[in-house]
Amino acid sequence: MKLTPLDAPGYEKVVYAEDAESGLKSIIAVHSTKLGPAAGGCRMFNYPDLETAKIDALRLSKGMTYKNAAASLPLGGGKSVIMADPNTDKSPELMQAFGRFVESFGGMYTTAEDVGISVEDIEEAAKFTSHAAGLNKGAFASGDPSPVTARGVFLSCLAALKHAFGRDQIEGKTVALQGLGHVGMYFAEHLHAAGAQLLVSDIDAHAVAEARQRFSARSVAPDDIYDVEADIFAPCAMGAILNADTIKRLKVKLVCGAANNQLADDAAGDALMERGIVYAPDYVVNGGGIISVSTEILKITDEKWVDRKIEQLAETTDKILTKAKALNASPHKVADQFVEEVLAN
Ligand code: NAD
Repeated sequence: MKLTPLDAPGYEKVVYAEDAESGLKSIIAVHSTKLGPAAGGCRMFNYPDLETAKIDALRLSKGMTYKNAAASLPLGGGKSVIMADPNTDKSPELMQAFGRFVESFGGMYTTAEDVGISVEDIEEAAKFTSHAAGLNKGAFASGDPSPVTARGVFLSCLAALKHAFGRDQIEGKTVALQGLGHVGMYFAEHLHAAGAQLLVSDIDAHAVAEARQRFSARSVAPDDIYDVEADIFAPCAMGAILNADTIKRLKVKLVCGAANNQLADDAAGDALMERGIVYAPDYVVNGGGIISVSTEILKITDEKWVDRKIEQLAETTDKILTKAKALNASPHKVADQFVEEVLAN
């Protein structure tokens, strides 16, 4: 396996790995180990080139520093990407080679699931590294983090409701939910059980059919989800979907969802505020997955620990939105400031 360090100012260690035998092309980016060893999932995506993969790895890695700090976890920020199509290129050999790559970081980075990567994939990688979490078997195994992520997003959404609508009642609200994958489908389950109406979109027709059947959801074509009449927009697919084009189309009063890096840029957060749309910062509300995974990394034995941490995410969301209103500032900036204070101290 050929390992090439990549230049990335502000990051502690970024390496590109290429393994001819398995076909692995992967980047591990460690943004910060200030609060502890870095932890963050692995994303498999058909990136068009190395530069695009690097940009994604860097963004996601820094996002993990902020997410872990916002959840008060003693973990730093890191993330990995594999340049491959999860539908056609996956093989045990590829994931095992990735495991060897993770191991080369000597514990500085622990990996887990993210988009395109399943528990089974991580278990293949774990055959070659002791720094993989989100496993189904073994001491402290925490399994699929997605249901915990969904619960954290749901509780945070309830906390954000009163900032957008004056009261925290979800019953009767219409949620435009983008992406019915691992997290999105569990989130839809919570929303439906609590009496919300669902308007969904996914590029996967099977997922849409399932949501229509299980939750009496209505559905729209993927690009139309930004235009629908709804109370809440819940991005649960890919990042950077809140941009100048999409924000002006939204008719909602609250954005709260699981996707990482929802804001295309800083201006997107300000644009939401200018339109009077409350934004529940992504890395605060979606911390449930890393909380679940960290029980394995930190060897947590207290059964109530995850529940308490998830409730804290909702409390943090509430605090950030309260402060943002008091300061007349964008919630994403208030969240960044909160984390930067944690990191500085
Ligand atoms: P996933 O791959 O299981 O689901 C993503 C879903 O989005 C898929 O069903 C896919 O078909 C759909 N999708 C892709 N492009 C779309 C589009 N343009 N319009 C509508 N749907 C589209 O991923 P996941 O694990 O559910 O994660 C979803 C998001 O939440 C990601 O951004 C991920 O980084 C973030 N996240 C996940 C976790 C976790 O525990 N899995 C934790 C924190 C954050």
